[in-house]
Amino acid sequence: MSAEAHRYAVFGHPIAHSLSPQIHAAFAGQLGIQLSYEAIDAAPAEFEEAVRRFFAEGGLGANVTLPHKEAAFALATERTDAAARAGAVNTLTALVGGKIQAHNTDGSGFVRDVTERHSLDLRGHDALLLGAGGAAKAVAWALMDAGVQTLTIVNRTPERADAIADAIGEPARCHTRYWDGLDGECFDLVVNATSIGVTGGTFDLPMSILQDHSTCYDLCYGAAAASFKGWATAVGARYFRDGLGMLIEQAADAFERWHGQRPDTDPVYQLLRQRF
Ligand code: NAP
Repeated sequence: MSAEAHRYAVFGHPIAHSLSPQIHAAFAGQLGIQLSYEAIDAAPAEFEEAVRRFFAEGGLGANVTLPHKEAAFALATERTDAAARAGAVNTLTALVGGKIQAHNTDGSGFVRDVTERHSLDLRGHDALLLGAGGAAKAVAWALMDAGVQTLTIVNRTPERADAIADAIGEPARCHTRYWDGLDGECFDLVVNATSIGVTGGTFDLPMSILQDHSTCYDLCYGAAAASFKGWATAVGARYFRDGLGMLIEQAADAFERWHGQRPDTDPVYQLLRQRF
């Protein structure tokens, strides 16, 4: 079968910056799988038609990034549990009969990066999650599943944080605070799932919220992680981790779903780490 027959893509807007084509090509090369994986720029008004055309023309799987994750959830004919929990998806898979399945690998990719690459056992942690967008939703559920002791969610728009906590429905473990209501609280894991590093803004959080051995994790990487890293360093976090590993792990989860084989993510991580 020709490489064209195994067609995959990532949809976003913009998309030129996406590392997904390079990551999937590296995974495929490792495992001797022939595929084509292209980056498709689709403006929001064109997204649904572009995705439907891609699958109608034989596309087998698509990743989806900003700003289309919720639209991708909406257009799917089937949704996995991870997709339904997040209400936003990054992985679409062609099923027989023209159906499209939606899945979210952000949460699993985050946990795999934290626990396997960075050897942090999440069980028993008191975690603070900043943000309540699509990625935060997936990460909130993943943190709960991974066994954090408590999860506190804060967001600029507090209603969106409340909606995640309500959906999780374990008020003794998962609750919200106002962004400026964290005085007196203390955490050993702070996860930034806002897009402040991209859109601009500051992490005006009390210095006292970190315990001595705390880890700060930013879903962003590269230049977009600079502002949160600056805050984490200033308040004395012991460890700072960025989202490059999560990016590669969530890609590996999608790859495994499509191809039935799990790639070795470490060589790809080492390669991209030289650039970010
Ligand atoms: P999203 O749905 O657009 O959510 C953005 C979040 O950031 C919302 O909670 C928003 O608050 C908050 N925010 C934006 N600007 C802010 C500001 N100036 N001050 C305070 N809060 C602000 O985006 P997403 O898909 O969840 O992605 C969030 C970030 O994670 C992005 O930077 C993305 O690149 C990154 N990400 C990384 C990976 C990875 O694999 N490493 C995967 C997914 C996402 P409001 O609700 O108030 O608007």
